[in-house]
Amino acid sequence: VFSNILVPFDDSEHAHAALHLAIDLVGSDPGATIHIVTVASNDIMPPSMLTATGAFGEAPIDYASYETLLTSIAERSDRELHDNVAAILGKDIDAVKAKLVIDTRLAPSPVDGITCYAADHRCDLIIMGRRGLGALRGMLGSVSYGVLRSSEIPVLTVK
Ligand code: ATP
Ligand code: MG
Ligand code: MG
Repeated sequence: VFSNILVPFDDSEHAHAALHLAIDLVGSDPGATIHIVTVASNDIMPPSMLTATGAFGEAPIDYASYETLLTSIAERSDRELHDNVAAILGKDIDAVKAKLVIDTRLAPSPVDGITCYAADHRCDLIIMGRRGLGALRGMLGSVSYGVLRSSEIPVLTVK
């Protein structure tokens, strides 16, 4: 039924559970694609990186170099994401027939990045954690809440 599943990934326990569920659901289907996507946004960029690059220094960087900075962060995390997903799936990865797309996307916010990615890639299901890396132990994280509120396609939240 589902051929393009988006797993928004922040490396939390919940996101790991979402990834395993996506593999259980369509991993054996060679016609399916699982998109594992981390959104890099300025609200998750460590302040140390902004100061290190002079973003908060005397000479504020212009928008173009800010984009370049974000892009290099995204490229580095693309590589980390590949290694991490391979480590999480372990030898199960050999049994996966579905196509795995692993990517980092730049966006103003995680919610924005997730919903835009889903639209751009014609995803038909989102499987995500109910919570993530945040310290507050509420019922639902703000990213899950935002995606549930704005998504046009079904969203499955995983504990
Ligand atoms: P909050 O961020 O509101 O403090 P939280 O971290 O516990 O709370 P969320 O951030 O909403 O909860 O995380 C819920 C799920 O959203 C995660 O399990 C993951 O699937 C997804 N997610 C969160 N942040 C990102 C991100 N930057 N990129 C991709 N997916 C994300
Ligand atoms: Mg990328
Ligand atoms: Mg979070």
